[in-house]
Amino acid sequence: MNEPTATTQQPSATSQAPTADKIWQLLEEVSDPEVPVLSILDLGIVRAVLVEGERVTVTITPTYSGCPAMGAIATDIRLRLLAEGYTQLTITNQISPAWTTDWMSQAGRDKLEAYGIAPPIDGTATGHVLNLFGKDTAVRCPLCKSANTHLVSQFGSTACKALYQCDDCREPFDYFKCHA
Ligand SMILES: [Zn+2]
Repeated sequence: MNEPTATTQQPSATSQAPTADKIWQLLEEVSDPEVPVLSILDLGIVRAVLVEGERVTVTITPTYSGCPAMGAIATDIRLRLLAEGYTQLTITNQISPAWTTDWMSQAGRDKLEAYGIAPPIDGTATGHVLNLFGKDTAVRCPLCKSANTHLVSQFGSTACKALYQCDDCREPFDYFKCHA
């Protein structure tokens, strides 16, 4: 498989050829810059990993066009793989089909809630949750689990979250917004 080609490689700590499994494992360690408890695999934004010899191509779908975190995510992926000695990297963006919060893994939803952020409600990626009145869908309080909550602001700590408040325990909390 690995014919010695005329590469000028310094003897490095990692001389193993990459495998797709190994790359997926490393991607699990790359966290969402906005919600560090979530890995990018939890978010569901990694579409494909392609390994051809030494060359690694990772395809990601941006979560949200207005989300400044996406540039950071591509950089973080690059840095994580470079740290393992994988230098022939291509990170590509696949815009279509667009990412929706429905792609978020169950593990990711659980981690979000444990972190104090209400996870996206399944199947609502078309955006019914965040109408201005905020009353047609129950966003559950991540602290006391009450469904008795109301929307305070479309924008929480970042543009990708909305701010809610619980009417039972009175705690304000972020809701991970559904993106259309
Ligand atoms: Zn509450």
